[in-house]
Amino acid sequence: CAKAGGGRTYRLFDVEMDNRLQAKQVMEQDLRQAFVEGQLDLHYQPIISLLEGRITGCEALLRWRHPVHGHIPPAEFVPLAEDIGLIEPIGEWVLHRACREAATWPEGIRVAINLSPAQFNSGKLVDCVSSALSCSALDPGRLELEITESVLLLKNEATMTALHRLRDLGVQIAMDDFGTGYSSLSYLRSFPFDKIKIDRSFVHELGENKQSTAIIRAITGLGKSLESTTVAEGIETIEQLEHLRADGCDEVQGFLLSRPVPAAELKQLLATWHPDRLAL
Ligand code: C2E
Ligand code: MG
Ligand code: MG
Ligand code: MG
Repeated sequence: CAKAGGGRTYRLFDVEMDNRLQAKQVMEQDLRQAFVEGQLDLHYQPIISLLEGRITGCEALLRWRHPVHGHIPPAEFVPLAEDIGLIEPIGEWVLHRACREAATWPEGIRVAINLSPAQFNSGKLVDCVSSALSCSALDPGRLELEITESVLLLKNEATMTALHRLRDLGVQIAMDDFGTGYSSLSYLRSFPFDKIKIDRSFVHELGENKQSTAIIRAITGLGKSLESTTVAEGIETIEQLEHLRADGCDEVQGFLLSRPVPAAELKQLLATWHPDRLAL
């Protein structure tokens, strides 16, 4: 009867919840272990100037190769790390590791590092960045910190103070995933970002969707007025590249130019990159 059926569904649901909870706990344990045992790694993706064709910087991106499940995307484990309070130590490791790596690159090439909102909560971020810079002897002007609007959602004075102190160190601040949040425009008002990264969802629809095409043109115009560099993420086709060039976007990043690659491979790419590659 219907009642029995309902009861069974509930029990199944419980079992499913239980399984999911267990799976999450196992994953948490695995992530803690991964961090301690050095299973986390950084890959780097070049960012290229549309005007000069040269590589201006590289974004450091976390990678986790799980011994059983293989590659687990950061979109899955970064939120998990945030949940269990592990993003702070991981974030600190990323800062030190990426700065040390970038110090070995040719002059003038920056490293871009993603920050989580949780890293602003501890009150230790500015010290942590200073220490990463001094340990690596990296010129602060070569470090770029990427934040999303979720950082500014915290809307507290300590966060704004931290951003300004980072700026005072000589570090650049970029607004990541621009245009996807609830009120990206109002966040541009709260801090003078050095860089605006246009979210790849807009780039994906370039040329196909009139709205996205218009929005990109508007953002690059906005960037010029605000004297912020505009970067488009997720360029996969030559058509997208040509659109962005015509719209006056400053820099591009995407699989068309290079996927994120391990540190050693990046060094090779930096040594052999030729501006002509942008003509494609
Ligand atoms: P994000 O900061 O917006 O990074 C750009 C993402 O776009 C990367 O995904 C990159 O691999 C991907 N991407 C680049 N070009 C293309 C393209 O042409 N097509 C497509 N489809 N994708 C492209 P990834 O590495 O999976 O990272 C996802 C997100 O995880 C990052 O988004 C960032 O929010 C977060 N993340 C990665 N590393 C770190 C980290 O060290 N710390 C923190 N807090 N977050 C990180
Ligand atoms: Mg980013
Ligand atoms: Mg992004
Ligand atoms: Mg993101």
